[in-house]
Amino acid sequence: MKKHLSILGATGSIGTQTIDILSSIDAEVVALTTNRNIKLLEQQARALHPKLCVAFDEAAAKELKTALADTDITVLAGMDGLVAAATHPDCDTVVTAVVGMVGLLPTLAAIDAGKDIALANKETLVCAGQLVMDAARRKGVHILPVDSEHSAIFQCIQACQGNALDKIILTASGGPFFGKTAEQLKMVTREQALQHPNWSMGAKITTDSATMMNKGLELLEAMWLYDLPESQIEIVVHRESIVHSLIEFADGAVLAQLGVPDMRLPIQYALTYPERLPCKVPRLSLAEVGRMTFYAPDNQAFPAMNLARHAARRKGNVGAVLNGANEAAVGRFLSGNLPFWKIPQLVEKAMEQVPYQAQPTLDDILASDRAARQAVASLAAAQ
Ligand code: NAD
Ligand code: MG
Repeated sequence: MKKHLSILGATGSIGTQTIDILSSIDAEVVALTTNRNIKLLEQQARALHPKLCVAFDEAAAKELKTALADTDITVLAGMDGLVAAATHPDCDTVVTAVVGMVGLLPTLAAIDAGKDIALANKETLVCAGQLVMDAARRKGVHILPVDSEHSAIFQCIQACQGNALDKIILTASGGPFFGKTAEQLKMVTREQALQHPNWSMGAKITTDSATMMNKGLELLEAMWLYDLPESQIEIVVHRESIVHSLIEFADGAVLAQLGVPDMRLPIQYALTYPERLPCKVPRLSLAEVGRMTFYAPDNQAFPAMNLARHAARRKGNVGAVLNGANEAAVGRFLSGNLPFWKIPQLVEKAMEQVPYQAQPTLDDILASDRAARQAVASLAAAQ
């Protein structure tokens, strides 16, 4: 069935890979958004002829409007623009490929407008999983996972035939600092953190992979998507990123989805589900892979996973605090204002400082996010 897409974050790693697979599927683009990469957005707009283009940044939006003045494309800015893209009447599916909790309001607005969501923006579920999943159930829309691990689980679940999952096993590459001790992590640099062994991604998620917070965020994402407690979600380090994740049944049978590490397959499956179409991604050759390795994660050197487990047990506003603090700390690290090893430390302290709320409203979630960012700012300033 033809898809009518709004791509939020079209100029990023997931956004550009989504556009790359459009030639393999039956789809039309209704809206494209960026933060401020208007050069690329203009190129994309001229190639794909959307009805609406959005630059979140107001100054960038002005420039984009001038650049596209010879077309009949509408240009908008800010959160209103993102929400307009997410709820455009001609769109049926929203690809959420923005980075960070800025994706939350447009995702909720899209669900409210009855759009299916191809979800890459995991921060949205980490912050407000309960609100997002409740809204999706109420509206009867699909949340189709793009994250490779969650897509793998989703693909395996197609074989469930109504049987409950006993366990989810999330695979983690281990990132660039696999095998390092907490002491050694005190020496690592920004450049080293941004060298991911298997995946080429945006700077924020690449940093999250280096701290292993990414796997923590994915644990929360899996908990909300598949309704399993954290005690039934295991993390295993798998250096080669060939097994994208696994599920286990009551009888102990384990199913996995395998493939070369390339996001275009999970993106495409989210957009063609339940159908499978030929895909540009190279085929897996197990003989070429040769060996696959698996290790227990090191929770001592990489404490972020335990922080996420704590957030998964407590629920309420704790996910929003964990995420807001992490976004703030990673932002400081990427601008050279915080050493790598302090990222999880500041997140943990912010989680101790921001008061717990068991049943947060959307406003409470937004306030918890702000409080967590403020906590990180004052903790960092005090050091
Ligand atoms: P990226 O940094 O490459 O791209 C982010 C996109 O969002 C860009 O288009 C950017 O212009 C836009 N953006 C950034 N800040 C914004 C703001 N404040 N307002 C509006 N738009 C903004 O990031 P990415 O690697 O593509 O990741 C996007 C999301 O997908 C993240 O949530 C990430 O965790 C998730 N994800 C990415 C990968 C991957 O392989 N890159 C894999 C799994 C999940
Ligand atoms: Mg992932």
